[in-house]
Amino acid sequence: MIIGIVGGGQLARMMALAGIPLGMRFIFLDPAEDACAAPLGEHLCGHYDNTELLSTMADKADVVTYEFENVPESAITFLADKVDVYPAAQALATARDRIHEKRVFQDLGISTVPFAPVGSFDELQDAVRSIGLPAILKTRTMGYDGKGQFVLRHSDDLESAWNQLGDAPLILEGFANFRREISVISVRGRDGEMRFYPLSENHHRDGILHTAHSLPDDPEQSQAEDYARRIMEKLDYVGVMALELFDTGDKLLANEMAPRVHNSGHWTIEGAVTSQFENHLRAVLGLPLGSTKAKGYATMVNLIGTIPDTSQLLSEAGIHLHSYSKKPYPGRKVGHATVWSASKPTRQKFALNL
Ligand code: AMP
Repeated sequence: MIIGIVGGGQLARMMALAGIPLGMRFIFLDPAEDACAAPLGEHLCGHYDNTELLSTMADKADVVTYEFENVPESAITFLADKVDVYPAAQALATARDRIHEKRVFQDLGISTVPFAPVGSFDELQDAVRSIGLPAILKTRTMGYDGKGQFVLRHSDDLESAWNQLGDAPLILEGFANFRREISVISVRGRDGEMRFYPLSENHHRDGILHTAHSLPDDPEQSQAEDYARRIMEKLDYVGVMALELFDTGDKLLANEMAPRVHNSGHWTIEGAVTSQFENHLRAVLGLPLGSTKAKGYATMVNLIGTIPDTSQLLSEAGIHLHSYSKKPYPGRKVGHATVWSASKPTRQKFALNL
């Protein structure tokens, strides 16, 4: 089986690391010469809309998937004419536009923060009048790791927010007073079977995910699964999907979905019977899904900017280091470490100081 992946970053690399033991082979399309998945398969080096390279991928691969949602729509349409692509274009189109995504959530009866599309300064003023402050102004597309966002606290903030973001189509969101941020990683096979991993509790630093704890037996599990189930059924979804949620204490608000394997699910490599990466491959290839049950307790910490001293890291009991072999620079995710334990850990023990 040959799997084509649009994108050759760490998510593609970890998919390949999961699929190679199952006899799968990989082709990656990525413009970076040093794409970190490249050593694990064939690397088509070029832009995502390069039709010659897309044709090569479609000819060679049995199925194509992607590792990020900002793949040009034209690339997916081009590929889908020639080869099976999962998750399908409908999921990608939903996830890449925050307004479209939140309308899908609303139509499915899934709670969200109040929101409004913003296309002009007048619309921004109207939206602030109806939603109130604080609020967050975000770009509708291409946002990631907290980029393209501006928190509005006072009415004087509107002008600078508009000057900074006003060139792009925007969404104004009401500010959620959440108790914690969680996500549910789910998988749906080609035959419609769905499985759900235990929730992750996520902590961010400077808008970037820093730590994710697995939460076996969390009381919000069934509500989160119900939301994810509705979305996957509606989109006839195939593959792994992540749904990020704000837990306000009395309900879960859906923030955003990712039509792909997700950083808050990296702990599943050591902390679940089948990792999110293997289950994504199983799903897109039409193979039986693996168990999503937790094995013990896991905490994942992103290594951002640089990999700390390896000997010191590996001296920590139960630690698993994943270095992506990426050139370090500030703010770049260059690896992650997962600490695993059989019994419920105390949070101090998992502080990890990273
Ligand atoms: P996002 O790109 O939507 O995942 O936002 C990045 C982070 O900003 C989230 O993980 C939250 O910590 C915070 N955030 C985003 N939207 C809201 C909101 N409507 N209310 C409060 N915090 C938010």
